[in-house]
Amino acid sequence: MTDIKSFTRGEMEEYLVSLGEPKFREKQVFKWVQSGITSFDSMSNVPAALRSRLKDEATLKTAEIAVKQVSAIDGTVKYLFRLEDGEHIESVFMRYKHGNTICISTQVGCRMGCSFCASTLNGLKRSLEPSEMLEQIMRAEADLGEKVSNIVLMGIGEPLDNYENVLKFLSLVNDPDGLNIGHRHISLSTCGLVDKIRLLAKERLQITLSVSLHAPNDALRKRIMPVAHRFSVAELLDACKDYEKQTGRRISFEYALIDGVTDTVELADELGRKLRGTLCHVNLIPVNQIKERDYKGSNRARIDAFVACLENYGITATVRRKLGSDISASCGQLRAESKA
Ligand code: SAH
Repeated sequence: MTDIKSFTRGEMEEYLVSLGEPKFREKQVFKWVQSGITSFDSMSNVPAALRSRLKDEATLKTAEIAVKQVSAIDGTVKYLFRLEDGEHIESVFMRYKHGNTICISTQVGCRMGCSFCASTLNGLKRSLEPSEMLEQIMRAEADLGEKVSNIVLMGIGEPLDNYENVLKFLSLVNDPDGLNIGHRHISLSTCGLVDKIRLLAKERLQITLSVSLHAPNDALRKRIMPVAHRFSVAELLDACKDYEKQTGRRISFEYALIDGVTDTVELADELGRKLRGTLCHVNLIPVNQIKERDYKGSNRARIDAFVACLENYGITATVRRKLGSDISASCGQLRAESKA
């Protein structure tokens, strides 16, 4: 079946022309497909013959809600979606003062192997198509009757390990005839694939790049993130500087605070020294406990000491607010549970 929702505008035109349609049909069909319809029958201004042809040979890649959990604490909604081939992915819808934010998955599983992360427990099944990334937003919007204004690519998967499809997604989601969400409202989080960060920098997109650093030196980073065996912290920070120079965008570093592992003041000091002078922001995440690992999140006093140390170096750091803590809202936990 033709994955019409993943088509760029050029591909859509080429496809429709190959079916004998006039060029103006592209805009009509593109708008319908990107509006989140779940059936080709909804395309009321499109000739019946074309609708039935599309029904025969194309798919809208509709995702089904397999599980929906609503946090009693803050209204955060977590979805487990079933894809056309039966695989499952997760998305989380959060309401912030600055607007509704959705955290979407980019792969089914993950092969990066970070030791604290539930998404990677069973490895990578496959990457998502652009349509399947768009679907997560469309289904949540339709289900809740609310619009999404911000997107974070921080769900299951490593976005830069699915580079081409993620780039296509970023272009489709930004289209004025589509979901029309501006790149400044989108954050992409990566465990630090240096070669891909350098490629992405050349695109000069206005998205926010979040880099999961989690440790200031190679020895510790290698213990918790296998990717550190491929790229050193120095190489990663160098690529981040290049990204900042090419795009003018401030990098956001994510740093998971694991009690007794990553949260000592010595490490905060080392981090401060290495990041001093770069245009960046540090997002501290007290690690969410997953039952498969014995890591614990840091307590308040240790977090405060860590923040104070970074501030001494003139680095702004914030501690991530925890939403949906009653519905295991952090990556991969629901998918992992559903497979158990
Ligand atoms: N693969 C991408 C995006 C997905 S994870 C990346 O690595 O950045 C989004 C963020 O949540 C990453 O910073 C990740 O390291 C972090 N994370 C994963 N498991 C976590 C846990 N148990 N507690 C806190 N943060 C976690």
